[in-house]
Amino acid sequence: GHNERVNYQELLLHAMKAARPVLDRGRPADYIPALACADPQRFGMALATVDGEVHGVGDWREPFSVQSISKLFALALALSHGGATLWQRVSREPSGNPFNSLIQLESEQGIPRNPFINAGALVVTDALLSLTGDARGAVVDFLRQESGNPAIDTDRAVAESEAGHGHRNAALAHFMASFGNLHNPVDDVLDHYFAHCSISADCRDLALAGGFLARHGLRADGSRLLSRGDAKRINAVLLTCGTYDAAGDFAYRVGLPGKSGVGGGVLAIVPGRGAVCAWSPGLDAAGNSVGALAALEDFTERSDWSVF
Ligand code: GLU
Repeated sequence: GHNERVNYQELLLHAMKAARPVLDRGRPADYIPALACADPQRFGMALATVDGEVHGVGDWREPFSVQSISKLFALALALSHGGATLWQRVSREPSGNPFNSLIQLESEQGIPRNPFINAGALVVTDALLSLTGDARGAVVDFLRQESGNPAIDTDRAVAESEAGHGHRNAALAHFMASFGNLHNPVDDVLDHYFAHCSISADCRDLALAGGFLARHGLRADGSRLLSRGDAKRINAVLLTCGTYDAAGDFAYRVGLPGKSGVGGGVLAIVPGRGAVCAWSPGLDAAGNSVGALAALEDFTERSDWSVF
């Protein structure tokens, strides 16, 4: 048991203070205009314990574009709907190449390296579409239910911008389709992929929505989303593959399973304890938020929220 009163608010304030000086070292994602205009001085952080206690600092109630963080929810939902054969269509090795790389796909016969690079997430989206008929809707519904926030939705302007600049994702999708690794029409898979990446949510929403991975597969209402084994496996893949080709550095500095997105959010899981989400739009060269990484590093250094 963890009976001692931990001052989470103080830990979060300290983490925010640690992040402030480095915020201007990052640059917002500029591949679509809708993200490029974000203010790198924004910073928020929230923590939700396994039993639903929530704390937050800074801009923790400011919605941002979740982008690749949605890939973890899409994977969990596909597995929960019986998508175990998914692991025959996507591997679980760190990539070492950028998130949108085409290179490995050819030598690996259209089987993406892991579910968190774009190619892998497109396969997961395809599976979720086959299993539910609405991959975007499944992710939105799940985020709304776990966070209790019915306002969570796709930002249509961001989704349209993604589609308008989506040549590389379209190339990945068509290339995999040529190997038979997409089962739905490529345009449908891309639409659902762009739409779940373009969901807006805040740090509080995401910390609460990540709770099922801290509760070993149990949802906020106590029902089971995933087996304990599947929750363990997702956490393991997050640790090794969740932060682009900088997962080694993230593991070294933060030491938690985590997923980042180019909107500047990072969601990290502490199995048995809770989930933490930090957000600041300025990114490093690998595409991870400079401020969120600094804050999470400070937080895990000063708290006992660690897997190591
Ligand atoms: N929708 C983005 C893309 O596919 C996601 C990028 C990311 O957050 O890694 O380019």
